[in-house]
Amino acid sequence: MIAFFTARTADEIRTGVKIDLPLRKGKDAEGTVNDPRLGAFEPGQVCGTCGEKAAKCPGHFGYIDLPEPCFNPVYGEVIAQILQSICYDCQAPRIELFEGQKLDFMEYSTKAKTVSVCGKCDSPLPKFKFRKANEKTKDSFSSLPAIIVFQKSRNDAVELSAKDVLVVLTKIKDETLKVLGFNSNVDLLISKVDPIAKLNNYGKPTIYHSRPEAFITEALSVLPSTARPRVMVGSEKRADDLTECYNKILKLATSARKEPRLTKESNDKYQKLIGRIQIEYWKLTASAPKNGKTTGVRAVKSLGDRLGGKDGRKTSNVAGKRSDMTSRTVGSPGGTKVPYGYLGYPEVFAKKLSVPEPITWWNKEWAEELLRNSKVNIVMRNNRKIVVARVCKDGNEFEFQGELGLKLGDLIHRHLGKGDPVFFNRQPTLRIESIQGMEILPVKEITHQLPLPCTRPLNADFDGDL
Ligand SMILES: [Zn+2]
Ligand SMILES: [Zn+2]
Repeated sequence: MIAFFTARTADEIRTGVKIDLPLRKGKDAEGTVNDPRLGAFEPGQVCGTCGEKAAKCPGHFGYIDLPEPCFNPVYGEVIAQILQSICYDCQAPRIELFEGQKLDFMEYSTKAKTVSVCGKCDSPLPKFKFRKANEKTKDSFSSLPAIIVFQKSRNDAVELSAKDVLVVLTKIKDETLKVLGFNSNVDLLISKVDPIAKLNNYGKPTIYHSRPEAFITEALSVLPSTARPRVMVGSEKRADDLTECYNKILKLATSARKEPRLTKESNDKYQKLIGRIQIEYWKLTASAPKNGKTTGVRAVKSLGDRLGGKDGRKTSNVAGKRSDMTSRTVGSPGGTKVPYGYLGYPEVFAKKLSVPEPITWWNKEWAEELLRNSKVNIVMRNNRKIVVARVCKDGNEFEFQGELGLKLGDLIHRHLGKGDPVFFNRQPTLRIESIQGMEILPVKEITHQLPLPCTRPLNADFDGDL
């Protein structure tokens, strides 16, 4: 799992456009969050990276170098699990595996948690816990995210910052990570999934290889400006929440870098700024907690909010609807004519929603029978599309360029018929029962006729929609 979705390392993020200037009124945008190299997003503007106008430029990523590493909300728990699987002092794995034994990361960390002394250096092995931002526990009063180390009892808990953790994570050897269950399936993935990745793999880590130091943010990736367009509020154009968030982080980072940190006051001020950067970074990334509390400040629409949830990218733009090979209508009770396992399916739809079927010696006769009964829409022959309705006018036999009937190697697009398997999805897809495999039973009605035993699992009440 971890091998497929890897975190980008700081060096990878730093291949983007460097953003290091807070927005200035009326001055050049170069180096700010509105840098023209991040993409052309206004009509007429030309992109500084690819030279294309807004219609063609895909947008380009930038980055902000943070003065100190920060915790990424997505990886906090994983980091605690990693620390719980190794020795904090010598970075050796807590449990040695025997020859041929393989554990995935979750199994390994659960087992390793119980080991209390390092087998290599005899150091005591503490327990680790990740504290989220604004999560106040009995032992701590800070609102900053941190890794908490419990030495022996709850009273001697120590807090680790992202910077402290990064030092340890960097020292973990690749072999140790393999024992922990990281990257163990990378070789397999490279050979099976991506032949190009294999070419790039001359002893170098591939895109599927993850290193835990990438779970801590040293350089913050900045979205292309095309992905955060200005919004109209009344007659005024306002910057997107994300743009404002990036700019705020830039301002804080610039102030932090200016701090000389020679006196205690200056050092405290620096630490405060770093803390605020961490909090702003979390606002930018994580969904705001839904505890009903309103602080009077409008909540930032974070990256997490944009991806997940009902109006998010996944549910609202990607999840199956209006795609090929699907149809949609309301549902109604099928009564006694639709037996369990079948779905009463409108004949009108079945004629349009065709199934591609290659012609072989064993199905040729059956396919020609379908052709005679006008149940085939299209015949594909040598990459040519033959519309059957045009060829077989007035009940004629199918004949194309002097050849009668179908040939082996043709591909027909036939109507859906009785017994064809389909996935039936009742929206909203709330749970696993909302998608079920069923067989087609063509009916005259224009609604999906449900077998009555499916009423409960699909939560159907037949009040008009379903
Ligand atoms: Zn461009
Ligand atoms: Zn050790």
